[in-house]
Amino acid sequence: MTLRTLDSLGDLAGRTVLIRCDFNVPLADGRIADEGRIVASLPTLRALLEQGAKVVAMSHLGRPKGEPDPQYSLAPVAERLGELLGAELAFAADTVGEDAHRVRIALEDGQLALLENLRFDPRETSKDATERATFAAELAAGADAFVSDGFGVVHREQASVFEIAQALPSAAGLLVQRELEVLSRLTESPERPYAVVLGGSKVSDKLGVIEHLLPRVDRLLIGGGMLFTFLAAKGLGVASSLLEQDQVERVRGYIADAEQRGVELLLPTDVVVAERFDADAEHETVAADAIESSRFGGSGIGLDIGPDTAAAFAEAIRGSRTVFWNGPMGVFEMDAFAAGTKAVAHALTETDGLAVVGGGDSAAAVRQLGFDDDAFGHISTGGGASLEFLEGSRLPGLEVLGW
Ligand code: ADP
Ligand code: MG
Repeated sequence: MTLRTLDSLGDLAGRTVLIRCDFNVPLADGRIADEGRIVASLPTLRALLEQGAKVVAMSHLGRPKGEPDPQYSLAPVAERLGELLGAELAFAADTVGEDAHRVRIALEDGQLALLENLRFDPRETSKDATERATFAAELAAGADAFVSDGFGVVHREQASVFEIAQALPSAAGLLVQRELEVLSRLTESPERPYAVVLGGSKVSDKLGVIEHLLPRVDRLLIGGGMLFTFLAAKGLGVASSLLEQDQVERVRGYIADAEQRGVELLLPTDVVVAERFDADAEHETVAADAIESSRFGGSGIGLDIGPDTAAAFAEAIRGSRTVFWNGPMGVFEMDAFAAGTKAVAHALTETDGLAVVGGGDSAAAVRQLGFDDDAFGHISTGGGASLEFLEGSRLPGLEVLGW
């Protein structure tokens, strides 16, 4: 089966088209900290609007608890999206209520509306498929077609991703199509050496990925929060750093597996340890096997890879022909702990081969650290989705589009 693309929907002039975007942008003090995901959604929106469709966009933002919560309103996104498109945009204060109805019936050909955060309704992410289907049917009412363009959510079985694609004629948008084209180059005969660099904070989520990646990669580089579970698996003390004690045994298995398969597993040899989790905290670099003997003793927290590690990682990355990177190497949001992430990002820009960055925070990090999007082969808008794709998992939001 092949992915259904926009042309499969026929002429959309005058039609009402629902589009699932991923406008889940990082916010800082109510402002958009990185608009990458909004920018990435523009080509499909423009294509639909230029065809003369009435376009109703929808997205989630953050993790509200199934009820309206002003801090997760999509209003700032609506404003920025209108500016970027240079067009008037109607914003509905709900998703399937009176305001959404009002906004939808007022739409003219070639006009765009954005609905409020989908996750203000508990049915969007309900575990009960019937509840999700009911919500999807309410969203679909009055629409002629559905376009799935939120790559960051295609691994989710959620109403606006999965059930809705069954309720209407549906197709992938240009962003989803492009993401798949690039990521497929990583799964179908990647040029070797093939390196995967993992970091970030969602330790247990990402540890699972390693099992699936080990048979595919030549090099695996581990930084970020998960590095401490690796150090612990090697019997080293990590003081008060992020540690998933219940995963240590499993990680020990990965280390053995990597060795057996001849996969080069690069673990940090030095770490930046801080007195506390704070931008101004006292800190020092220590060897990875001496974290507990930093001057902060048992209360020290590892917040970045050290300079020796950064140099070794950079060299391994530059010497690879295909590199996929997900997860910052340290707490890059704080200047004192951004060097490792910066070194890795820089090395990715220097590889001759294909360098792909995946993940919301990783993408935000490269931009925040001053790198140009074009310096990378591809910056994926999906973190979990791109990892699950690389693992070879089934992605419900793609299967439902014929993938
Ligand atoms: P992505 O969104 O790219 O998939 P994650 O959400 O998994 O990445 O992780 C990003 C977060 O990881 C950043 O906010 C960063 O501060 C945090 N992080 C990185 N290293 C550490 C560490 N050693 N301890 C705690 N948090 C860390
Ligand atoms: Mg993240």
